[in-house]
Parts: sequence; C-alpha cells; structure tokens
Amino acid sequence: MTAEAKKEYEVIIIGGGPAGLSAGIYTSRARLSSLLIEMGVVGGRIADAELVENYPGFTEGISGTELGQLMQKQAAKYGLNIVTAEVTGLELKKDKKMVKTTKGDFNAKAVIIASGSERGKLNIPGENELAGRGVSYCATCDAPFFKEKPVAVVGGGNAAISEALHLAKFASKVIVIHRRNQLRATRIMEEKARAETRIEFLWDTVVEKIEGKDAVRRLKLRQVKTGKQSTLDTTGVFVSVGLKPSTDFLKGVLPLDKDGFIITNDQMETKIPGIFAAGDIRQHSPRQAITAAGDGATAAIFAEKFLEPIASATPISKV
Ligand SMILES: Cc1cc2nc3c(=O)[nH]c(=O)nc-3n(C[C@H](O)[C@H](O)[C@H](O)COP(=O)(O)OP(=O)(O)OC[C@H]3O[C@@H](n4cnc5c(N)ncnc54)[C@H](O)[C@@H]3O)c2cc1C
Repeated sequence: MTAEAKKEYEVIIIGGGPAGLSAGIYTSRARLSSLLIEMGVVGGRIADAELVENYPGFTEGISGTELGQLMQKQAAKYGLNIVTAEVTGLELKKDKKMVKTTKGDFNAKAVIIASGSERGKLNIPGENELAGRGVSYCATCDAPFFKEKPVAVVGGGNAAISEALHLAKFASKVIVIHRRNQLRATRIMEEKARAETRIEFLWDTVVEKIEGKDAVRRLKLRQVKTGKQSTLDTTGVFVSVGLKPSTDFLKGVLPLDKDGFIITNDQMETKIPGIFAAGDIRQHSPRQAITAAGDGATAAIFAEKFLEPIASATPISKV
C-alpha cells in the first residue's frame, strides 16, 4: 500500500479484484498516474476461491488468493498506487471526478468502477465454515469438482436454475431446494430444468444447517408448511439466492439497471463520459475472473483514449 497517496490522478480505479487490478496493470503500464482504492483484501472475490482451474496460464490451477496476489504484484511493478479505503461517493465536477472515501477525497479525470458484487448468503450454521469445502456460490467455477456426485442447489430464480442445468452436466443428481412451491425462473428455464432427468425439486423447503467436519456431508432441511425436519446427504451445495452489486455509493450519480448493475457499451463506457465500469459490476457480466480481467483491460484502454485530448490540453505529471 502506498504510504501517502496524492490527491490528483489521471485515473482512479474503484475495487481491487481481477477487473480493477487488470485495469491498473494497463493504466500504469501506459504511464497514466493511477490510484486503485480497495476497502478489503486486494484480489477481490477470487481470493475466496480455493482452486481456480479456468484462468489461462495455470495448467495445474492456482489458489484464488495467490492469483490475486500475483495480479497485485504485477500492477505494483508498473507503479500502481493502492489505498485501503471504502469509497462512499462520487461527485462530478466538469472535467474532474471526485471520489469520496473514508480516507479523504481523491480527484481524477477518468474513473473505472470495478467494485464487483456480493453473492446472497443463507446465513445458516456451517455456511461460512464449509465455504470452499462443498459450499459454493458458482457452478461454472466448481461443478467439475462434483463429477458423478449428488449435489444440491438452493434457490428458485433464473440464476439458480442456470446453475442447476450447468451442474447436471457433471453431477449424478441435482436437487433444487426452493422455499416456495413454484420457481421464480422464467418458463423457458423451468421447462429446460424439468426436461433434465438429473434435476429433481424439493418444494417449500429451506436449508437450516450445513453439516460436515472438514467438508460438506449433509443438509438439515425443514418443510415450511408442515415444519417437518429431514436430512439430505450431499457433498456439494450451491447457494444461488441473489446477487447484490456493490453500487450503493453510485446512487443518484450513474444510471443503474433495475437490479443495481452498471450498464456499459462494449468499450466499458457508461452514460457519463470518463466513467467506465468493468467486471462483475456490469449488467449481464458472466461473472468470471477472466471476463472481469478482460473488462478491466478494455476499460483501461478506452480510458487512455478518453484522456488523450485532455492530456494534450492540460498536461499532468505522470508517475
Ligand atoms: C468462492 C468463489 C469462487 C470462485 N471461483 C472462480 C473460479 O474458479 N473461476 C472464475 O473465473 N471465477 C471464480 N469466481 C468468480 C470471480 O471471483 C469473480 O468473477 C471475479 O472476482 C470478479 O472480479 P471483479 O474485479 O469484477 O470483482 P471482485 O472480485 O468482486 O472485486 C471487487 C472489489 O471491489 C471492492 N469494493 C467493493 N465496494 C467497494 C467500495 N465502496 N470501496 C472500495 N472497494 C470496494 C471489494 O472489496 C472487492 O475486493 C469465484 C467467486 C467466488 C465467490
């Protein structure tokens, strides 16, 4: 972390996950003065992944923590400044964008928002303790670990059904556990799921506890209408009960979609010139480390292009 951050930059990046760090590698290598602001662990959500098998270049896979650290190291090599602070607001003033944080305000000519999203949790005993040991929030990431094993999916929306359909290509059986007696997913998604012989449904049921010592072994369930309790033996449970984009600090500044995600074009530009968004925070993002990294690189390249006319009019010292 930089001991004392300057107050003016060409580019400020909000969020230090794969999208933000990739953007930082590109902007710093392009010799743009750049600051990345991260409120938690640099590396972002990928740091929660025990083993990442689908990020190119690592033939044996790599731990999420190590992948994040390598990205940070690479960005630091090119001079990216990093500050630990929470971004609380964004103010637009002509050419300048003021990023308000818990460590004071910083100004930039361009801002790349890469603050990601939080997956909804069940908040039940065993969930945190067994995360990465059978409790997963991402079928695309973890389905291959459950080849020919029975797994459970908790949720009833499009995301949950899409996770179930993906898992059905690997698992011996996929049990969708939903607290209501009908899905929230679209009819077409439901039809696909019902046509898949490996998918079964447990209606009006909630998971009360995830049990296991070092790995998931079983789920404790409750039928909401009868109150009857039961157990389900499984080694994998995929939680898909919503996603919350980290965009609270943008309310009233930037148009967001109905779920709070940022709408961009394919150059990662938002409706406001000089404000870009990258990674899981974007509407319709596939929410993968590699796609987030690609978005970050794209945002940085177009931020550099955006700054070209400004840089020739008002030179700014480069770090
Ligand atoms: C358990 C788990 C396993 C996964 N496994 C894989 C896998 O195997 N392969 C794969 O490709 N993907 C995997 N993913 C998905 C992957 O982690 C994400 O797609 C990727 O991290 C998204 O990158 P991002 O930079 O867009 O956002 P994030 O990684 O979410 O980073 C956003 C960062 O912004 C910070 N932030 C948010 N708000 C603020 C604020 N107001 N101020 C300052 N900082 C803020 C957050 O602290 C966070 O560090 C996994 C995810 C999880 C949770």
